[in-house]
Amino acid sequence: MKENSHYGFMTKALHAGWDYDPATGASGLPIYATSAYQFNSSKHAASLFNLEEDGYIYSRLSNPTVNAFEKGLSALEGGVGAVALSSGQAAFSHLITAICSAGTNLVVSRKVYGGTLTLLQNIFSRFGVETILVDGDHPCQVEQAINDKTRGIISETIGNPLMNVAPLEALAHIAQRHGVPLIIDNTFASPAICRPIEWGTNIVIHSTTKYISGNGNLVGGAIVDGGNFNWSDYPDKFPGLALPDPAYHGITFTEKYGKAALAAKLHCAIVRDMGGCPSAFDAYLLHISLSTLALRMKRHSENAMKVAKFLEMHPQVEWVLYPSLESHPQNDMAKVYMKEGCGGMMAFGVKGGIDAGRKLVDSLELIGHMANLGQTRTLIVHPASTTHSQLSSEERKAAGLSDGLLRLSVGLEDAEDIISDLERGLAAAGK
Ligand SMILES: *Cc1c(COP(=O)(O)O)cnc(C)c1O
Repeated sequence: MKENSHYGFMTKALHAGWDYDPATGASGLPIYATSAYQFNSSKHAASLFNLEEDGYIYSRLSNPTVNAFEKGLSALEGGVGAVALSSGQAAFSHLITAICSAGTNLVVSRKVYGGTLTLLQNIFSRFGVETILVDGDHPCQVEQAINDKTRGIISETIGNPLMNVAPLEALAHIAQRHGVPLIIDNTFASPAICRPIEWGTNIVIHSTTKYISGNGNLVGGAIVDGGNFNWSDYPDKFPGLALPDPAYHGITFTEKYGKAALAAKLHCAIVRDMGGCPSAFDAYLLHISLSTLALRMKRHSENAMKVAKFLEMHPQVEWVLYPSLESHPQNDMAKVYMKEGCGGMMAFGVKGGIDAGRKLVDSLELIGHMANLGQTRTLIVHPASTTHSQLSSEERKAAGLSDGLLRLSVGLEDAEDIISDLERGLAAAGK
């Protein structure tokens, strides 16, 4: 498939990145289980190392199976390039390493995934990268927090686990006005539901562990370069991209790679030096999963709507947060950014607080109790005791997390079966 083509989402999902092997005609993507690649000559080797020629050197830098997945994901998000990493955490840590240095800061929505906050506040703070927490749902707060040291704005399309919808266009305008990239974690939505780059986002992050894999069979991450941020306009802020790189005999990434400067910098320098590359086998599994992403997300959305309506009517349930529900505070925005449904993630509060929540989880038979989401199977988790347990109770409260909140990842089973399991759980919670 020609890149940047006009094809529809499903066509891209089936063809982008890999059609067939030009050498053998094999239609299945081979798992290139190799650490390194034979050089044709010492001249060839030198030109590869100097980035004069495209090609493979060593699988920490690039691997054909990984590249096929990266091209596929980039096409689905509408980016100019993607970089696959070994986890969602690795995606964030590599990206921040690429665009920040000591003395800079990031303006971050307080409601992002707890792991993102701990990475920023426990690790990057020690290297002089400050995190300025804001209410990312209120663009004016975001704008007020930005200063001349800011190197990016971070939020999530749909927040984990509060289900808040990011005001993508407003954030993109602010980012543009202040010359910083807008970075959106699109894990909860996936490109089948929302493509943040179409709404002005500059960089998309994924934990591919979740919907992109869909099968709960690996841990992975990715960064998608929107190609829509002019790094060369801000050489003082982003010298690693817009000024000569001494690690590559003074090449300037924006000059050599144009719009795809960030993806190139990440591949050639950041993943090379930080080493968070994924395995070819995981990239192979992820590439297969892309072909069913749109079908899965449609079914996740349909099932989730049925489950959300059931929960909303149940006397044992205090509140339900699902962006497709009219009762969701940002339902209007969800309808704009996610026209075909909002995926499988929702949060709800059961009456009776923390104990009722525990009873509910312990009496389920079908729904899995685990710290994952976005799988074909329905899963439930209690954030206060799991995903957000690294935060203090005050930090959780500041992030709007009640201790009785349950996060539900609605899977692809028959909706009636999911609902009857929840009915059992809610009955137990009420006893
Ligand atoms: C899971 C998750 C991450 C972290 O990804 P890992 O693959 O677990 O490292 C980041 N952001 C969101 C929204 C997530 O749900």
